[in-house]
Amino acid sequence: MNVAVIASEAVPFAKTGGLADVAGTLPIALDRLGIKASLFLPFYREARRSGLSPQETGVTLHVPAGARIVEGKVLTCKLPGSRADAFLIDQPGYFDREGLYQRDGADHPDNCERFAFFARATLEAIRLLDLRPDVLHGNDWQTGLIPVLLEESYRNRPGFGAMGTLLSVHNLAYQGSFGPQALPSTGIEPRMLDGFHLEGDGRLNFLKIGLASADLLNTVSPTYAREIQTPEYGCGLDGLLRSRSADLFGIINGIDESTWDPATDRDLAARYDSATVEAGKAACKADLQRLAGLPGRPGVPLLAQIGRLARQKGWDLLAAVADDLLREDVQMVVLGTGDPAYHDLLGRLEAAHPGKLRAFVGFSDPLAHRIEAGADLFLMPSLYEPCGLNQLYSQAYGTVPVVRATGGLADTVVDANPATLADGTATGITFRDPSPEALRGAIDRALALRGDREAWSKVVLAGMRADWSWGRGARAYAELYEEVRRRRTSRAAG
Ligand code: ADP
Repeated sequence: MNVAVIASEAVPFAKTGGLADVAGTLPIALDRLGIKASLFLPFYREARRSGLSPQETGVTLHVPAGARIVEGKVLTCKLPGSRADAFLIDQPGYFDREGLYQRDGADHPDNCERFAFFARATLEAIRLLDLRPDVLHGNDWQTGLIPVLLEESYRNRPGFGAMGTLLSVHNLAYQGSFGPQALPSTGIEPRMLDGFHLEGDGRLNFLKIGLASADLLNTVSPTYAREIQTPEYGCGLDGLLRSRSADLFGIINGIDESTWDPATDRDLAARYDSATVEAGKAACKADLQRLAGLPGRPGVPLLAQIGRLARQKGWDLLAAVADDLLREDVQMVVLGTGDPAYHDLLGRLEAAHPGKLRAFVGFSDPLAHRIEAGADLFLMPSLYEPCGLNQLYSQAYGTVPVVRATGGLADTVVDANPATLADGTATGITFRDPSPEALRGAIDRALALRGDREAWSKVVLAGMRADWSWGRGARAYAELYEEVRRRRTSRAAG
């Protein structure tokens, strides 16, 4: 099996969200399973500063973009600690600029052209480097055109005849939708697209084109795969997704254990594993309270939240319960950036509840690690959550997640009730209704659980023992690639 993972961002080159973690880590995990994997991504300005020094491959690309031919180059280096190759598409006009997709909060006006170029340049690089992958694994809207371009311009070329395609959706809300006038810049012939691919008004929707044309589809959790087939979660594409129900799978992301393991984490005041979790977390909690300027009280429940300050993450629910909650004997630490309305909310709450809440507005990976280790409870009341990573980090760090049972949260957190406590499978607290009352009820259940030392310890240890490694995730992807290949082969034979 030989796979090309194609993504618009990947660690350690360039990152804006969870997609970068998946795209940068999956090829390394596949390589460990003996699968030949390569990664394709744009050579952004950020990637130039990543500290890795990709070398020239000698390949020059000439990519049609409407009436123009755009030139590019392909650079390469190994992914850290791996035999997997990264190939970076170098086109300074498109990619050597500030911001991957946006600048000052506004989308780059040529995003359609940039990512149409990236898709075609990747196919051209695969041809010129003679890589012959069995599966092209695209991710999100930026790679949505690949299956159509493959069919239109590459299928008859040597090495492309049996190539299959998989498209992974990391967040259905981002679709890459452009006016009908954008079509010429994509280099796609109008005859390749019909009502199945296009919006009703003829707009190009890169994600829709990909979802309609890739051999197989997946999302980053089984529950999200089901949810996006409903009008409530489908972002206008639920009908198309229902029509492809038999081709749509869900695979939970893994966590990178080289950075998210409390036994080896260099950011922590104390390192710990399941045998030393009580003492280790006590030291990390004291460290976090000191850092956050909160009273150093070992017994007080410390709640945490880390992530984008966005409606998606349930911040309206948190806003509704915060005042009441912070009047109780609790502490809370928040780390995030995003919607200015929530920055204001956090400022007001901090002023109203001195010594109870500390909000760090910003992005800091080391701080995220110290918060995960120092907190008792982690709140994730997301309205939707394709997979979510922090509930997995929380489990690994012995911090009990309190989550809304949606998407990946529903698939990765087992609610603590008498049955799951008895059989040892409980790993957190879940609630269903997207209401402040349901969230508050869940927090109260979590606080009560914490009062029961024996039950609490069982939940903490079950979370720490759960396997959220990329080894598991990569094996699931390997099976999906096999399925892509089976379907391609049977189609070719038929
Ligand atoms: P999403 O991709 O929807 O933003 P995920 O939970 O899938 O959410 O992944 C977000 C990742 O980014 C997690 O690793 C999270 O810890 C991290 N992250 C988000 N905001 C911050 C922040 N302000 N500081 C540090 N890490 C953050």
